[in-house]
Amino acid sequence: MKILHVASEVAPFAKTGGLADVASALPRHLRRAGHDVRVFLPLYDTIDAGAANLTPLLDGIEIRLGAHRYQAKIVVAGSEPHVHFVHCPALYARGAIYTSDADEHLRFLALCHAALAACQRMGFAPEIVHCHDWQTALLPLILKEQLAWDRLFADTRTLLTIHNLNYQGLFPAAIVPDTNFDHSAHLLHQDQLREGRINFLLHGILYADGVSTVSPTYSREIQTAEHGAGLDSFLRARTSTVIGILNGVEYDEWSPESDRLIPHRYGAADLAGKERNKEALLTGLGLPYVPGVPVAGIVSRLAGQKGFELVEEVMPDLLRRHRFQLVVLGSGERRLQEVFIRLQAAFPRQVCFYKGFSNPLAHLIEAGADLFLMPSRYEPCGLNQMYSLRYGTVPIVHQTGGLADTVRQWQPQSGEGTGFSFERHDAAGLRWAIEAALTVFDDRPAWRRLMKNGMAEDFSWSAQVKRYEAVYARLRD
Ligand code: ADP
Repeated sequence: MKILHVASEVAPFAKTGGLADVASALPRHLRRAGHDVRVFLPLYDTIDAGAANLTPLLDGIEIRLGAHRYQAKIVVAGSEPHVHFVHCPALYARGAIYTSDADEHLRFLALCHAALAACQRMGFAPEIVHCHDWQTALLPLILKEQLAWDRLFADTRTLLTIHNLNYQGLFPAAIVPDTNFDHSAHLLHQDQLREGRINFLLHGILYADGVSTVSPTYSREIQTAEHGAGLDSFLRARTSTVIGILNGVEYDEWSPESDRLIPHRYGAADLAGKERNKEALLTGLGLPYVPGVPVAGIVSRLAGQKGFELVEEVMPDLLRRHRFQLVVLGSGERRLQEVFIRLQAAFPRQVCFYKGFSNPLAHLIEAGADLFLMPSRYEPCGLNQMYSLRYGTVPIVHQTGGLADTVRQWQPQSGEGTGFSFERHDAAGLRWAIEAALTVFDDRPAWRRLMKNGMAEDFSWSAQVKRYEAVYARLRD
């Protein structure tokens, strides 16, 4: 199949979260399965052009968005020739992937138009255009309406993957002329226009041939008023086309047996290296290492979605009453940074907060911690709990979205299960789960069994790619 992916983030070039991992791994695995895949993303000025070893492919791509005109070039990555960058400094030289600039909508409309124009120039007729999140959610309608004349796209079908329903691309209706739909504005959602808004993600839900999300549970949750972020009725109206496919894990990068970013490699058969990584982690962060004292880890964007207000509520008391340590890597909202700064100040020998984004430290935390905390309010898929399982780092999660689909509650009688999963998102739930984990930690044979159960789980991309292939085939036929 000929498949086009268009996304605002693709790892390792541009990443703020899980979208980047998916938009990198899925195309690569589709290529391995024999498909002809092209990926398009903006050439942000934050991308190290030298490291990406860019070579020019197409020049003089003209993009017209309402009264705005842009000139773009397409360059490809030397290391990964299927990855195409849209080079347009007027839009992408902003020092960040996302901005709150007045032309944010233009930055991603231009991405969609440039990708489609490049297909025209290359004579690449995609059978599937796979869009990701609000940034590319108008693409299906652009294709159906503005490019209906082009036979190149006559057999093209579109799939929109929602990585997070709460980021919708909401703009004032005054930008409608910039979408080039001003002569076919009846196709846009009228109620919202009357209210003075245009919601990009909604138009993907209305017009993409298929809609997917990144876990089966999340695909059901977003069709409820509680988790639907105002779009549940539109999703329910298309319920037969809304499916959930878990993200896969790149075990080439995330396996303790072969991880080059950790000092001591280990596996389920020999866990000694894990203890040495724990010592390296703690001493590196300036915390005392005491054998037998469990370490809990967090690696996360610091955003309201992630549920850290529960950590704030329960942690002081738990840290006082139990012997354990907490290592946190994260960046994001200031109020959540302050939660961890305060915890560190109050418990300097037990807590370390590393503010920032660091892939090597993320790997070392996965390898060196005993427990991993993800008390997310909602979680479309989540990757870190799956990484944690592979590293024998027992996840403690709220039973929601992809966390519910990947972590099985520990059953002491049968010795089954891979982690601790609390049902109600409240402080009592998180406290129960952490205390249950700390109790099992002291029972060494049970804990070893729990670790090994998790390490034996397989969430590799090879299985997930087959699911996407099946969806693509259904859309095409
Ligand atoms: P989300 O997409 O909501 O941020 P996911 O769990 O799906 O959450 O993906 C997060 C990805 O980003 C993981 O690969 C995780 O390791 C990485 N990550 C998040 N925050 C940091 C950080 N501060 N430093 C390093 N990696 C991070």
